[in-house]
Amino acid sequence: MNIKRLKGFRDILPSETPAWRLVEESASRVFGKYGYEELRLPLLEETPLFKRTIGEATDIVEKEMYTFTDAGDNMVTLRPEGTASTVRAYVENGFARSHPKERWFYMGPMFRRERPQKGRFRQFHQIGAECFGWAEPAADADVISMLWDFAVDLGISSRVSMEVNSLGCASDRSAYIEELRKYLESRSDSLCSNCKERTTRNPLRVLDCKSPHCQEATKDAPSLENYLCEDCAEHFTVVCGILSSEKVPFKVNNRMVRGLDYYNRTTFELLTNELGSQNAVAAGGRYDGLVELLGGPAVPALGFAMGVERLVLMVGEGAGIRSAPGAYFVYRTEEGQRRAFSLKRQLIGEGFKADMDYEERSFKAQMRAAGSSGAAFAVIFGESEIAEGKVTIKDMQKGEQVTLDDKEAKDVLIQRLRMESELGD
Ligand code: ATP
Ligand code: MG
Repeated sequence: MNIKRLKGFRDILPSETPAWRLVEESASRVFGKYGYEELRLPLLEETPLFKRTIGEATDIVEKEMYTFTDAGDNMVTLRPEGTASTVRAYVENGFARSHPKERWFYMGPMFRRERPQKGRFRQFHQIGAECFGWAEPAADADVISMLWDFAVDLGISSRVSMEVNSLGCASDRSAYIEELRKYLESRSDSLCSNCKERTTRNPLRVLDCKSPHCQEATKDAPSLENYLCEDCAEHFTVVCGILSSEKVPFKVNNRMVRGLDYYNRTTFELLTNELGSQNAVAAGGRYDGLVELLGGPAVPALGFAMGVERLVLMVGEGAGIRSAPGAYFVYRTEEGQRRAFSLKRQLIGEGFKADMDYEERSFKAQMRAAGSSGAAFAVIFGESEIAEGKVTIKDMQKGEQVTLDDKEAKDVLIQRLRMESELGD
């Protein structure tokens, strides 16, 4: 048997998980301070949840979803993103009516059957945040500031940039789309086949096409900015004003349209130029109609999702701390192993990391393992220690050692390891 993982699916190995935890812990910490609470959602949902919200004419719904009928003949889909499920949970669990002001975040795998490449996978992970119940521009500015503060906390803010735009309301957009379609039709010859088709079905998305030809062909396309109604324009001005006075760096990009149908008004992306064409690290916006679309009352909301693989690539897959044990136990004979086992377990009970080899290898090999483990102390039950009922603690950095009985050894180790961990903090 030679079974391999599916194309576009990855194993996240122990050497990488510290970097993952760094990203996840930074998000939980920063979002938590902003009042966001964690939500955990199912990976599998009824297919219409995504079809109706993300939009029939989007890449995700048209060609990227993992959809199948289960043994009970239900059409189900592995979630391609988190917002639709979050809104479903918000409505289904009664929050939309009884407690509409909620701020939630989630993290976990998403599934899209797209072409795998660097920073693009079929199972990937997002950390997302959703803010329900406020239509005010201060909410938009707060969400964008939070995303920026996360980038600062993670230490990548000098390598990313924030772009913002307003998609206006539905009526602004329909006026604009008519003009855009006319423009695109006049340049149809220069567009890729995909965009030719999008011109009729979903012209906004042409602006989002990654082909340089299409970008060139549409560089003087009419700008959405000129089609915003007074309220939408005012909303956007206030959002930008707060960000400016808060010194959250951003740039207005009138071509940013986002690949999902549910957005309105403010949209934003956090971009990098380090990952080739996979330049969006995070993206989001307002989706004021979505709660109602999923059967709730009209509750305004907005949010964003970040791509964890891309963030991990940015911090470096080797980032984060792989913790070394505080003590590594080295022993001879069965009796030595018993005593080492017991003292190791007592140290773990006191909150320290400790390790030993279960196989009694040569004394030399065990000492080498103690060295390469990075442990601060080797705790040695050699033949002479066993004969005297003692144990030796060796400071691996200084090379100094003391021989004590087990009880004293435990107290000394606890004291020294505590000092070590204070120094480490
Ligand atoms: P892109 O333009 O890169 O396809 P998108 O507009 O499809 O992104 P969203 O659906 O808004 O992206 O998802 C938010 C974030 O999730 C993206 O900015 C990106 O960081 C990440 N992401 C999206 N698709 C993938 C994927 N297939 N593999 C890895 N990360 C992804
Ligand atoms: Mg995409």
